[in-house]
Amino acid sequence: MRASLARILFRGSIAATAMIATAVHAADPPKDVKLYVFSSGGLTLDKSILQNGSSGKVTIPVGFFLIRHPKGDVLFDCGNNDRIITNPDYWGPLIGGLDPVRTPDVAIDTQLAKINVRPADVKYVVLGHFHADHAGNIGKFMDSTFVYQRDEIKSAFWPAPGFATFYISGDFEPMRSGIAVGMPNKVKVIELEGDLDLFGDHSVYIHRAVSHTPGSQLVVVRLPKTGTVVLTGDAIYLQENLDKNLLPSIGSVYNPPGMLDAYAWVRRVRDLEGADVIFSHDPDTFKAKKHAPEYYD
Ligand SMILES: [Zn+2]
Repeated sequence: MRASLARILFRGSIAATAMIATAVHAADPPKDVKLYVFSSGGLTLDKSILQNGSSGKVTIPVGFFLIRHPKGDVLFDCGNNDRIITNPDYWGPLIGGLDPVRTPDVAIDTQLAKINVRPADVKYVVLGHFHADHAGNIGKFMDSTFVYQRDEIKSAFWPAPGFATFYISGDFEPMRSGIAVGMPNKVKVIELEGDLDLFGDHSVYIHRAVSHTPGSQLVVVRLPKTGTVVLTGDAIYLQENLDKNLLPSIGSVYNPPGMLDAYAWVRRVRDLEGADVIFSHDPDTFKAKKHAPEYYD
């Protein structure tokens, strides 16, 4: 009994040492990482959704991103479900409230084809959160590994009262296994309750931010020439929100202090590393970025 306990403790100490060694000797960042910027069409909505107290309509991009890494392509978010191009009813009343662009060119296959990528080529799909304009095309990436926060998938399937509006269960139902299967996921997943350095080389760092939704996450990409780029997802909607600490309306901020923490975290990375910040929904700053097939390297 004593001996086996000792062995367990010994094993524990080896594991701890190995973890420290990994942290100290993380792989060097690769020299050939690229970042591509795409939009899944646009949305036209009341600006007050994005910024509490604002008024009027605003047309915003629906950003999603592909990171080309030597160990595999990483997609950050996957846009509006392409089904709405031919079947607007799929979005129910949201189709009127958000007025998405529905031309065939916004389809994710068509967008990725600009850089000769097919959905089946994508190794990881990192989901900033599960709202309709970020998780829409999950069903097209059934061979990929999905990376998300456990709190977020629980929230997507059964949101807190008042926070159900933008989750469309048909988008993420393809991830769920069938009847009488112990594991819930039909697809490969990395389910997080915190941060993750995806390749162990600092090049793609996923940061948990309980903010816009219970399991929102943003991505820091470290590129060989451009340097650090922060992809905010919806943890920060607009540049002005970051600059002036402005929050969205209540339905778009699950955890207000958590969202202000996310702003502070991003400002810290920006200031420490001279990072560029790309907001998925900021019309002016998004327009000024290089768009696929151009890229950041
Ligand atoms: Zn969004």
